[in-house]
Amino acid sequence: MKIVDGIYSIETFATSALVVDSHLILVDTSADSEAKEILKALKEFNYQPRDVEFIIITHTHPDHVGGLATLKEKTEATILAHEIEIPYITKEKEYPKGPLRHQAVSVDRSLKDGEIFEGLLVIHTPGHTLGSIALLTQEKSVLIAGNSLQNRDGILGPMPDTYNTDPKEHRDSIKKRAHYDLEHLLPGHGEPIIFQSSYFWNLF
Ligand SMILES: [Zn+2]
Ligand SMILES: [Zn+2]
Repeated sequence: MKIVDGIYSIETFATSALVVDSHLILVDTSADSEAKEILKALKEFNYQPRDVEFIIITHTHPDHVGGLATLKEKTEATILAHEIEIPYITKEKEYPKGPLRHQAVSVDRSLKDGEIFEGLLVIHTPGHTLGSIALLTQEKSVLIAGNSLQNRDGILGPMPDTYNTDPKEHRDSIKKRAHYDLEHLLPGHGEPIIFQSSYFWNLF
């Protein structure tokens, strides 16, 4: 669905985002079994897989990174993730909460907190995983939240703690949102929140 001009969500079990600017950027790749849904969505938006130039992974959970092996092959995109998260995507390091179920994929470029990549501000939001990120499109005022928080039945809050590497840090990361002006939020799980005033964002 369209969030605002140039930002679209692709809904599978977890929500991926498509950012259309001077480049086509896919944020997250869903589960291995759902990579075909992403390819189908690209087609519906009238894009070929090769049109995707960059794939940014918000964090290394199977519902976000599982489709990466397939999508990297089909798109030949440059793969990016936060520098701390990369060794878990490539499986060079063992994930602190046990083995991960995805195919190891190499990452081409690392991202740092505070960096702006193609108009997306990288916000490090540790606690869900060590190198989790959210991405803020400053021009369009959309926060692509990854799993830095979820929207459960209209209530924004933390992800279930069974999935979090550090529950307290995860909650501290949620508070980082207050540092930014935003109108729209696209969470990795739950419905997007569109056109809300700063009053709303200050409530949680
Ligand atoms: Zn997750
Ligand atoms: Zn998830």
